[in-house]
Amino acid sequence: MLRDQDRIFTNLYGEHSPWIDGARARGDWSNTKDLILLGREAIVDGIKKSGLRGRGGAGFPTGMKWSFMPKQSDGPTYLVVNADESEPGTCKDREILRHDPHKLVEGCVVAAAAMGCTAGYIFIRGEFVREAQALERAVAEAYEAGYLGKDCCGSGMSFDLYVHRGAGAYICGEETALLEALEGTKGQPRLKPPFPAMVGLYGRPTTINNVESIAVTPTILRRGPEWFAGLGRPNNTGTKIFCISGHVNRPCTVEEQLGIPLKELLEKHCGGVRGGWNNLLAVIPGGSSVPLLPKSVCDDVLMDFDSLRAVTSGLGTAGVIVMDKSTDVVKAIARLSKFYMHESCGQCTPCREGTGWLWRMMERMVKGECRLEDIDLLQDVTKQIEGHTICALGDAAAWPVQGLIRHFRPELERRIREQGEARRLAA
Ligand code: SF4
Repeated sequence: MLRDQDRIFTNLYGEHSPWIDGARARGDWSNTKDLILLGREAIVDGIKKSGLRGRGGAGFPTGMKWSFMPKQSDGPTYLVVNADESEPGTCKDREILRHDPHKLVEGCVVAAAAMGCTAGYIFIRGEFVREAQALERAVAEAYEAGYLGKDCCGSGMSFDLYVHRGAGAYICGEETALLEALEGTKGQPRLKPPFPAMVGLYGRPTTINNVESIAVTPTILRRGPEWFAGLGRPNNTGTKIFCISGHVNRPCTVEEQLGIPLKELLEKHCGGVRGGWNNLLAVIPGGSSVPLLPKSVCDDVLMDFDSLRAVTSGLGTAGVIVMDKSTDVVKAIARLSKFYMHESCGQCTPCREGTGWLWRMMERMVKGECRLEDIDLLQDVTKQIEGHTICALGDAAAWPVQGLIRHFRPELERRIREQGEARRLAA
């Protein structure tokens, strides 16, 4: 379990002031100039050594991502922060934005110094009205204190930071769709390559990072990469904000070490599963897009990127959705299929058509109104979508259904048999 002195987000629950005085009291902005003056290479090296992996879902090493930005540039280069948190079951960035916005603003300054960015944009989910207000106030305070703008923090570096409110489309959380939306066009993902580090916002080199990934960087540099690397497990280092919802006694958002056992996470921080551990049916461990895990796997799985991948799921956003035995698991996954169908941007055929197919087939599975062979057909449809689309929304739609078939096939078969029997008797 994470020790109190190792917590990065010490105002996660809003018990103290989120504004600049409160942030300074918590140690933010204490030696930002020194961090900037470390220089590009030293900052990127520090983040690489810490082992920080992106906290937005993909888990790509942050330091390596930063190193992809060109060392020389003949014009502006940009940092973009993805604050479009919309994944069902995920509410971690929101707590940073409303209770600790200065951690993010300071992180932007450090990231800009690491990559030579001239301006930064924080793209915030449109529905986060209060959070956007908090962030805008934090940015204004930072300007007033001389932490942003020309000669920020007295370091000689110039960096401007803007808050941009999204209009509420889930797909704008995909990094290239986000860039399109920032540019004022329809939020649809771009084909890659070229990657944003070469051709990004307004055609310029751009790095897009998640809120949590950026917000932790000043603390990592201040306390030292070794400290961060000493938390968690090899290749899965540091702390992570988990948000736990569903059938636990106390749903919560909590910072913990990566690699904490799922059972410990639920029992220590959430008062356990409703009705006790044996009443657990399944857990979706990383936001709605990763495959669910049955109780037998949950018994001893660790909450980190590699451990969850080894059991054919993923850490994703660390939005943990707990389902006890009262859950109609087929209906729950069908609801997610409807979500992805609704949020598909419609650009590519496997996703546009396939997500609709998935939802309609899942609705029939809920009622058992199909044939046993349709389970394999459903699996086949997921495989036709997965890996055949421009962005990861196609995979995100396919994986929950694949997880259901992998772990709950007997339940699907039971429904089909019972429905078939009922029809036979009626006839
Ligand atoms: Fe749009 Fe879906 Fe294609 Fe992504 S996978 S670009 S959401 S149609």
